[in-house]
Amino acid sequence: MAKQYDVAVIGAGAAGMMCAAVAGKGGKRVVLLDHAAKLAEKIRISGGGRCNFTNINAGPQNFLSQNPHFCKSALSRYTAQDFLALVKKYRIAHHEKHKGQLFCNDSSEQVIQMLRAECEVGGVHWRMPCKVAGVQKTESGFSIATDSGEILADSVVIATGGLSIPKIGASDLGYRIATQFGLKIVETRPGLVPLTFDGPSWEAFAPLAGIALEVEVSTGAGKGKGAQRGHFREDLLFTHRGLSGPAILQISSYWQPGTPIVLDLLPEMDVAEVLIGAKKTEKKQLGNVLAQWLPARLAEGLLLANGFAPDARLADMADAKLRKLGDAINRWAIVPTGSEGYRKAEVTLGGVDTRELSQQTMMANKVPGLYFIGETVDVTGWLGGYNFQWAWASGVAAGLALAES
Ligand SMILES: Cc1cc2nc3c(=O)[nH]c(=O)nc-3n(C[C@H](O)[C@H](O)[C@H](O)COP(=O)(O)OP(=O)(O)OC[C@H]3O[C@@H](n4cnc5c(N)ncnc54)[C@H](O)[C@@H]3O)c2cc1C
Repeated sequence: MAKQYDVAVIGAGAAGMMCAAVAGKGGKRVVLLDHAAKLAEKIRISGGGRCNFTNINAGPQNFLSQNPHFCKSALSRYTAQDFLALVKKYRIAHHEKHKGQLFCNDSSEQVIQMLRAECEVGGVHWRMPCKVAGVQKTESGFSIATDSGEILADSVVIATGGLSIPKIGASDLGYRIATQFGLKIVETRPGLVPLTFDGPSWEAFAPLAGIALEVEVSTGAGKGKGAQRGHFREDLLFTHRGLSGPAILQISSYWQPGTPIVLDLLPEMDVAEVLIGAKKTEKKQLGNVLAQWLPARLAEGLLLANGFAPDARLADMADAKLRKLGDAINRWAIVPTGSEGYRKAEVTLGGVDTRELSQQTMMANKVPGLYFIGETVDVTGWLGGYNFQWAWASGVAAGLALAES
């Protein structure tokens, strides 16, 4: 006999658990399904195991989407302060780390247990691990075929997340269900991901793995469908395969393949002006001059890559050459070969086209009773707790709408 519920939520991650708890507490009979054996692995590994669960400054400006207005309604109705109040209610010790980012003091497991407890309060039924074979529309609702039998529900919420980190259970089920019901998908690609570089222009930098420094980074993008301009001041890290660190993860979400990213390695300084000004009095070699402000190995790599001998004397350099060197440091434009892909990406850009959904309820406009929340939707946050805030806010928006339905 098929089990009948008011609401079936597919995907017991951040958004799915939040939505199930809210709909359950609102009086609905809810079932929550997930194919994973272990609950909410992405929350567990997030924030280096301490879950950067929100950002107190979160607002629509921190999200990418083909429709930047879509996220406004949900984010304003369930704010970072609302989630923080829940964290405080469960007495989870936490701290602010950097630019409004809130982390657990101890373990992300506490956030998972908090959401599980909220689901308990809402009387949510669990099916886990449970493989979903497909979702079909019935006369009065939906039928979900699973490896533990058929489930019938008046409404279905798709909360299966994005494609990043497939080894812990990411799948494309959400996009497949959206496509099956005739909803458009904004092309997906890895976001918040290290960028890779190769070829002759990168040779001088390949040995610099491990070097880190604060930089400004931007994309000159602005071209291409949905391209948005990004600009961040964060730490950069040289890796064996290219560049990483918060600066690169942030800009990767704005980067369009084939276009350059532009790095300012000394954002506080007009390097050309300072070098030209110092020429008359400075007796040092170029490499040693730059090493006053940059890691010495990086200074040497930059000089070699730009055709300067590190042992050339500053005093002997023509102003035009120093301007070229200044540009190479303050406006270093490089075209990444690619990215580390979904294997390393923290998020998936793109997803279910927001024009297909109600921004108040997350329900598909042309399929009453079918909802999409969290990362499956074309709303992607910056690094720093924003993606969880979207998961909570979109989960609550759908949960409240379901409770009222
Ligand atoms: C390494 C890493 C660190 C991160 N750190 C942070 C951070 O500190 N702060 C932050 O804001 N964001 C962070 N993120 C991003 C954040 O984890 C996600 O944006 C967020 O979890 C998305 O929530 P969601 O509920 O939409 O999807 P998820 O949390 O990914 O949940 C999706 C659920 O659906 C299930 N599922 C998938 N396919 C199926 C299927 N076919 N059948 C049944 N179930 C299925 C999965 O098992 C999973 O439980 C991090 C991501 C990664 C990869």
